[in-house]
Amino acid sequence: MILLDDQFKQALPIIDKIQEAGFEAYFVGGSVRDTLLKKTINDVDIATSAKPDEIKLIFQKTIDVGIEHGTVMVLWKDASYEITTFRTESTYQDFRRPDNVEFVRSLKEDLKRRDFTINALAMNRDGQIIDYFDGQNDLKKKMIRAVGIPEERFFEDALRMMRGVRLVSQLDFDMDSETERAIRMNHALLEKIAIERIQVEFTKLLLGSGRKKALALFIQTNLFYYCPGLKSYKKELEELAKLECMIDNRIIAWTLLIHYLRIPTTKAELFLREWKCSKKEINQVQSALFALEYRLENNFNRQVLYQVGLQIALDVETMMECLEHPVNFESVHLLDQELPIHSKKEIRINGNDLKDMLDRKPGKWLGDLMIEIEEAILAGSLLNEKQAIFDWVSHYYKK
Ligand code: ATP
Ligand code: MG
Repeated sequence: MILLDDQFKQALPIIDKIQEAGFEAYFVGGSVRDTLLKKTINDVDIATSAKPDEIKLIFQKTIDVGIEHGTVMVLWKDASYEITTFRTESTYQDFRRPDNVEFVRSLKEDLKRRDFTINALAMNRDGQIIDYFDGQNDLKKKMIRAVGIPEERFFEDALRMMRGVRLVSQLDFDMDSETERAIRMNHALLEKIAIERIQVEFTKLLLGSGRKKALALFIQTNLFYYCPGLKSYKKELEELAKLECMIDNRIIAWTLLIHYLRIPTTKAELFLREWKCSKKEINQVQSALFALEYRLENNFNRQVLYQVGLQIALDVETMMECLEHPVNFESVHLLDQELPIHSKKEIRINGNDLKDMLDRKPGKWLGDLMIEIEEAILAGSLLNEKQAIFDWVSHYYKK
């Protein structure tokens, strides 16, 4: 019997209300797995024998997040819970999504269609574990094993192959040899899967504590071959797999990857776009790549730090440590404290002030002048005060 974590306790009234209405409901998936591993849980997922319409009759506030797949979101006391009807996924024809979701009334049927034994565990409201596929034993053995016949499971949904290697990394587990063999044999099915979904798993792989092992599997099984832009980089990926340090965030993950693949900064955007990274993330990685290249040759100066910002500079320092170069986090913080401004917004004068002062129509000159003011303030040759800037501009314009 498991002592319920607060997150589960908060969700108990939901399970109870479903049961009072005459249906079954259990905690399932990652939260049960992580509880048994004594890890902090992300989100609590609930599986139930009630159909979506029946769930919507029980709760007042619900959102249809994926009703065709049987998922309804219930809003309950400032939190939200995904409640999914027990289902089987009968016919798969395109190796990605079930053509046909069939709702069933049995928990066992639902757990059977889940990907790995450690993810096919359920827990009832009293903390009792339901384990039809020996998932607890695999948790003890630290083993990722497909539920049932691995080959069939990867044919149903090829993303599971990526989920398997990402779990190896995230949990620092090993992969069962039959499961691994089935991935190697069927790695090409990954081609059918939407890049966005592969990206989620690959990023988690890079961030996990078992990254070394997982990357080795990712290469040996040839999964890398069907990932955007990695096909011709086996050797470079093997080098990356030797890296020891933890990777703390997504920006560091993508920047280090591009650094190891020796993709020129000019091609980085295309690479990241192929991976369907967000515009914002692409910009951040480009900044980080520029800053890393700079930092490999120099210490940070005011201009570079101002340009990329403190967070990226610290990420770069972390990467330098990873790459076994000498680092100095303290000096980055000190340099940041010395910066007279951290962004344009902090300049104590704006375009309107300048236009009025000089009595000129706005035009390109205004932007150019603002940049010069910004640079002078940053370099310390101009004080960031309204009067000082006015004086500087009148002097500058006389010239
Ligand atoms: P995380 O802690 O990273 O959220 P998770 O195991 O909870 O890991 P989710 O993607 O949140 O992963 O999925 C929740 C559960 O749904 C899984 O534990 C698994 O039981 C099931 N699941 C998710 N994706 C698949 C899939 N492609 N095939 C089969 N079962 C899946
Ligand atoms: Mg989850």
